[in-house]
Amino acid sequence: MSQQRPSHAYHWKLGDTGPAVAEIRFKLTLLGLLPETPPTRPGGRVIPSAEALFDVEVDAAIRHFQQQRGLTTDGIVGPETYRHLNEARWRLGDRVLTYIPSNMVVGDDVAHLQQRLLDMGFTPGRVDGIYGAVTAQAVSEFQRNMGLHPDGTLGPTTFVVLERLSRTVVGGAPHVMRETEMLRHSGPALSGKVIVIDPGHGADDHGVLSADGLSEAALVWDITGRLEGRLTALGVRTYLTRTLDSDPDETERARFANQTGADLMISLHLEGHANPEIGGVASYYFGDESRGRWSHTGKQFAGLVQRELVARCGLGDLRSHARSWTLLRSTRMPCVRLELGYLTNADDAARLRSPEIRAQAVEAIAVAVQRVYLPPEDDSPTGMLHLPHALA
Ligand SMILES: [Zn+2]
Repeated sequence: MSQQRPSHAYHWKLGDTGPAVAEIRFKLTLLGLLPETPPTRPGGRVIPSAEALFDVEVDAAIRHFQQQRGLTTDGIVGPETYRHLNEARWRLGDRVLTYIPSNMVVGDDVAHLQQRLLDMGFTPGRVDGIYGAVTAQAVSEFQRNMGLHPDGTLGPTTFVVLERLSRTVVGGAPHVMRETEMLRHSGPALSGKVIVIDPGHGADDHGVLSADGLSEAALVWDITGRLEGRLTALGVRTYLTRTLDSDPDETERARFANQTGADLMISLHLEGHANPEIGGVASYYFGDESRGRWSHTGKQFAGLVQRELVARCGLGDLRSHARSWTLLRSTRMPCVRLELGYLTNADDAARLRSPEIRAQAVEAIAVAVQRVYLPPEDDSPTGMLHLPHALA
């Protein structure tokens, strides 16, 4: 780094001249606050930097800049305004950002990075424009999620990945990015997709019981077997989180799913309620709607499967909802939990007892799986025509 004048020497104002004023003019030009054409004397000769003038134009630009940044609007370039001029000129991607404890990188590019990381659900600390340890940790975490070397430095490779993602998924969680990337890499074909099916409960845990002893664990096990067959027929590789006689907890189920590198996880449950009137199907995906963060693919799949289940099985529509339950939160792939009806509701229980309705539930899930992997341009309402561009 070039030698800098001690900061107390900075006090430039209207009427001053010299190379420092030229530097200030240059910085204001970079920020778009002064025109790019260099100042000229009458007659057209460019003014040399030694004679650069702090004129009314510079004064106005400095006041405007100070106002923008919440500084005292006095038109004077003191140490504080000078520091801000230096920080403001950096655009994300202009330079490599790294954590140097003794000389921390400061600038608007850092603030911009911190905001983006926050938007994507990481925790870079305060948006203060200082590349400190917490920001470096958040960058490492981002890199780990993207399969990059987690060195905590924002170099060109990490920058490119960040740019690509933050354009598409602002407002998502780390989750969302991983999913978007996985979707991109996995493409629209179902062949080669990996789906984890998670039949709730198991072993000694029956889950909800109907009045006549129908158990949630047994019913979701039956549905799981059917779904496994249906998905396998579509070319999907499936894994189950439990055997008939085991009952791993939610953390173990999530860990298992993560190990498979699955594209999607479907957790199957039934519900019960003290009020026998309550019935219907509901679906849950990872997220927190109040904070504007959720798994995009999870929400999309939950919506699709919800619609299909209601239409095909005649179950009431209790809609899809964002939740941050352990299983939804701890899985790296989009995970949707389906509550396929209330065993405490006579109507729902009667439907679930029917093998035909259970087969329809499986078909509903399979259709939703197919739809979620279709590229958006093919996801048009049935009956819509696509004319080739040449004919349109
Ligand atoms: Zn359950």
